[in-house]
Amino acid sequence: MAERDAGGTDEAWLRQRVVDAAQDLARTGLSPNMSGNVSARAGDRIFITPSGVPYTDLLPADIAEIAFDGRILSGTFPPSSEWRMHAAIYAAHPEAGGIVHAHSDFATVLAVLKREIPPFHYMVAVAGGRDIPCAPYATFGSAELAAHAVAALDARRACLLAHHGQIAFGRTVEDALHLAHEVETLAAQYCRALQLCEPDLLSDDEMAVNVEKFRTYGPRG
Ligand code: 13P
Ligand code: ZN
Repeated sequence: MAERDAGGTDEAWLRQRVVDAAQDLARTGLSPNMSGNVSARAGDRIFITPSGVPYTDLLPADIAEIAFDGRILSGTFPPSSEWRMHAAIYAAHPEAGGIVHAHSDFATVLAVLKREIPPFHYMVAVAGGRDIPCAPYATFGSAELAAHAVAALDARRACLLAHHGQIAFGRTVEDALHLAHEVETLAAQYCRALQLCEPDLLSDDEMAVNVEKFRTYGPRG
């Protein structure tokens, strides 16, 4: 990572970064077993984890290269069953360079209850809005699920998926992975707060301030 530009689109490097992010899902437990998927975009091509292959065994050549219509351009295995959701998010968000979908524990707990993550903590604004919404349920891998995710990601970089998990995007695949971890941390904190009582929520005005501050937060803004 150190000797290359994290925003670069060199193909071999992109494949390796998708593998690294997928292996992070396995190593950290963010997405158990073979659940979840990871992709990076290079222009009109998408490099995405293969469907149903354990992340621990993944090699760069196993990453499927597809067009936005799902046409397979290269790769050892078929692409993730969620390629439509990834392609639809890239199409709707030209700034997106990477996407991480995970069945992380606490995000999924909220998602099975069809609950959003409300503004109980200022960090909720890290996803770009006052809350992290929960998209309605649709069958995994369906165009309907892709449409629900795109609608929920209006002015947001992450959302929950009802009865399923969460999805996050970023400028790079590393940014998307980082945000998916943030979403899980917030979901865990919210679930734990709910065990004591329903927390007070920050006002829309306060969250607007936090969203604005996050635009320029950190070394990359
Ligand atoms: P894939 O192995 O096909 O990526 O499916 C995992 C998943 O999380 C489906 O929603
Ligand atoms: Zn899934």
